[in-house]
Amino acid sequence: MIQSVAFIGLGAMGYRMAAHLPKHFDTVLVWNRNFSKAKQHATEYGTTAVELSEAVQADIIFSCLPTSQDVETLIDSVEIKSGAIWIDCTSGVPEAAQRLAEKLKPQNIDFLDAPVSGQTIGAENATLTFMVGGDVNAFERAYPAMAALGKLIQHVGDSGAGFAVKAINNMLLAVNLWSVAEGFSTLKAHGVNLDAALNCINASSGKSLVTENIFPQRVLSREFPVTFALPLLAKDTGIALDLVHDAKLPAPILSLTQSLIQAASLTAEPNSDFSAAVKMYESWSKITLE
Ligand code: NDP
Repeated sequence: MIQSVAFIGLGAMGYRMAAHLPKHFDTVLVWNRNFSKAKQHATEYGTTAVELSEAVQADIIFSCLPTSQDVETLIDSVEIKSGAIWIDCTSGVPEAAQRLAEKLKPQNIDFLDAPVSGQTIGAENATLTFMVGGDVNAFERAYPAMAALGKLIQHVGDSGAGFAVKAINNMLLAVNLWSVAEGFSTLKAHGVNLDAALNCINASSGKSLVTENIFPQRVLSREFPVTFALPLLAKDTGIALDLVHDAKLPAPILSLTQSLIQAASLTAEPNSDFSAAVKMYESWSKITLE
């Protein structure tokens, strides 16, 4: 029985995710490094802003920080309640999940790597997909907390498996984003109307989240709203490529895509959305996708 839930890291994702918890649980504690955000969350959603040391006394502790390193540093700095389950929604590194699960086990604390997909809109609507690695029993006990924030809650394997699935998912997003930029630039060079092309492709076999959502809403609209930072996508493609190397597999497309996204991240304007990676291709092609 879950009595108390805490949420650590009220960023673009965490702020929206934590907003649903008071509808399902009596005690909802929130903590953020910039503490004013935690206080604002408490005012807006009826959560309770607390010190980090208090947040880690909850039955369920969610975290959603930029990197696994941030999570490991934070966990090293606190004493977590025995019997708690830590659900890390960061898009992290599989090895770090294995390390943390092993480290916390003797203290009777379960660590689940539980990254999410569905963008900030999915966080807002509680329709996220959770891909979860770790102990099955802990997964089952923690299920109601994740179900309060998501639609598909899927156990995918041992510790690290959730992070692995997320990294490959985001690599596939990157491959798609880049290839759609090349394809649509080619169509524009041939004088094709891009909206009409999009209509056809979205009723055909080449469609994807990128053609249905990202391109029309972010690229062709020239809005590039910053909801998922480009350096975070570069981090994810890096994690995915490390997995490829660990498996000693050839992966020419994934390797190239990682380099392209990394280059785009390094050359983009500060605070760019991931969709702005296509601007690097536009600077090569001299074709603006609008
Ligand atoms: P943001 O940059 O918006 O938020 C990051 C949060 O982490 C902030 O609350 C920030 O606190 C906190 N933080 C950063 N560094 C530290 C630290 N060293 N110690 C403690 N707190 C820290 O990121 P997102 O919410 O966009 O992303 C979070 C994770 O979720 C990432 O791993 C990302 O890849 C993943 N993700 C993001 C999606 C998206 O659409 N944005 C979709 C799915 C997954 P402060 O306010 O003080 O800076």
